[in-house]
Amino acid sequence: MNSIRSSKINFYMNKVILLNKRPHGTPTVNDFKITNAEDPAAKDGEILLKTTYVSVDPYLRGRMNDTKSYVPPFELNKPIQSGVIAEVIDSKHADFKKGDFVSGNLNWSEYQTSNGKGLHKVSSSDAKLSSYLGILGMTGLTAYLGLMKIGLPKEGETIVVSGAGGAVGTVVGQIGKLMGCKVVGITGSDEKVALLTSTFKFDHAINYKTTKDLKVAVKSACPEGVDIYFDNVGGEISDAVLANINKYARLPVCGAISSYNKTEVPLGPRLQPIILTKSATMKGFIIGDLSEHFPSATKQLTAWLNENKISFSETIIEGFDNIPQAFIDLFEGKNKGKMIVKI
Ligand code: NDP
Repeated sequence: MNSIRSSKINFYMNKVILLNKRPHGTPTVNDFKITNAEDPAAKDGEILLKTTYVSVDPYLRGRMNDTKSYVPPFELNKPIQSGVIAEVIDSKHADFKKGDFVSGNLNWSEYQTSNGKGLHKVSSSDAKLSSYLGILGMTGLTAYLGLMKIGLPKEGETIVVSGAGGAVGTVVGQIGKLMGCKVVGITGSDEKVALLTSTFKFDHAINYKTTKDLKVAVKSACPEGVDIYFDNVGGEISDAVLANINKYARLPVCGAISSYNKTEVPLGPRLQPIILTKSATMKGFIIGDLSEHFPSATKQLTAWLNENKISFSETIIEGFDNIPQAFIDLFEGKNKGKMIVKI
């Protein structure tokens, strides 16, 4: 931790990470700029926050492009924002006190002030603080609601999940097992294949990087066909799964990470004949649009965690300066479960 705090006056070396330039293709550390900002101080109605954990997420890549989407793009030379857990170190706000921990969408900044809007208090006595960025945060909700509201799992069905070794994928598979389904994961290393089949009790896992014919591998792992395909990645992996879907299959389209760094739109097979002839339902979703279900979903995920019915894996990188690299590493699959930076 590179901050200095004197006992007489509050003095922080307050590092902030800005978007330096818009990435072309795969992001590099030069697309980010680490700079020193002014020491923030809480005014009336505000809290002063010290960042504890930072979530790095694939969707942030889209916000680095200057294109219209479901969230506005990041501005050049302005701080990047993502899910953050922070400690309240000074409060001039009636609802927060020093020592509270909060979760919210905040700047990549060591210290910052907030008026408290959009922040939720979290407690380390209820769960591991970092888990509020993963299984009890955005990615856990995405897994739960994407599977339960769009995938509509029924006992005995077969679920295939891509991006299976990541934050969303590991949770989707475990919930699928709890629903009495057969679960097959597709992931990018033998280590993750072992994690999925041992720790997370997937029935099968396939390493897409070493499998010659993925369509055949999915068919052999799912001889009864695929009833639900939870798609985290898109591209050729999804083409291979779609070739194996059953009649009335449901396909929650959660993410398309294989295309996030592409500079040209990738071409693939036309999907309409498959969707038509299998009477399948393919539905994209943005988790923020399902916020009415967050309280019940969080309650269920917390209960399963407390009953040891589900668990989670985290890759925790240490140090504020390593946030950009941790983000870039998502595209190399260097994370197992949720990628988090501890400050
Ligand atoms: P992960 O923890 O799964 O990390 C990303 C993983 O993607 C990597 O570990 C890597 O694993 C895999 N990956 C990277 N590049 C490729 C590629 N070219 N082809 C295939 N796999 C690749 O991230 P999250 O769990 O946070 O997110 C998973 C997906 O869900 C993302 O696409 C994300 O954008 C999306 N998402 C969507 C939300 C929504 O509201 N719809 C909300 C949250 C996430 P591997 O070793 O297997 O290659």
